[in-house]
Amino acid sequence: MECSRLYKVNLLDVPAEGSDLAWHLDDDFFKALEQIEIEHGSIDAALRVRHKADGYEVDVDMEGNVDIPCDRCLEPMSQDVEAHSTLTVRLGQAYDDDGDIITVAADTAELDLAWNLFEMVVLAIPTHHTHPDGQCPVDVPFLVSESPEPRSVSDADSPFAKLKDLLAQGDADNK
Ligand SMILES: [Zn+2]
Repeated sequence: MECSRLYKVNLLDVPAEGSDLAWHLDDDFFKALEQIEIEHGSIDAALRVRHKADGYEVDVDMEGNVDIPCDRCLEPMSQDVEAHSTLTVRLGQAYDDDGDIITVAADTAELDLAWNLFEMVVLAIPTHHTHPDGQCPVDVPFLVSESPEPRSVSDADSPFAKLKDLLAQGDADNK
């Protein structure tokens, strides 16, 4: 995951007053994570890393958009994404992310946030996402004729919904 080095923070380098970082998540970011659901993306991420008594706190603000398949016609559509999260980070023996606290191996103190950022993007996307009514670039008559509901791609069929389930399940398992 070559680009991932761009989304790492060496916690030992964080000065006493903390540090502010501005990252950009682009197509290479999503490509490197090998997540086919998101082909294109352009998201600005502002991070504030602060020392706490027992570790660190990372505030993340993200804003931008991603291209994902429309639920109705499956053609790409642009989806605005806005997300905020505060991550609690501790130094420990080995990497662990239990959903509440991220533990980073103390010997390297390298916090890799690529997956956390990706997770934030995915969770910020509404489960149902379509082009505005009547603006799908291709006709989907076969979908309309087979079902009274124009949307025949059910949640269960959508690879995107499956990914969301997976992430939600992962968090639940770790609780
Ligand atoms: Zn569409």
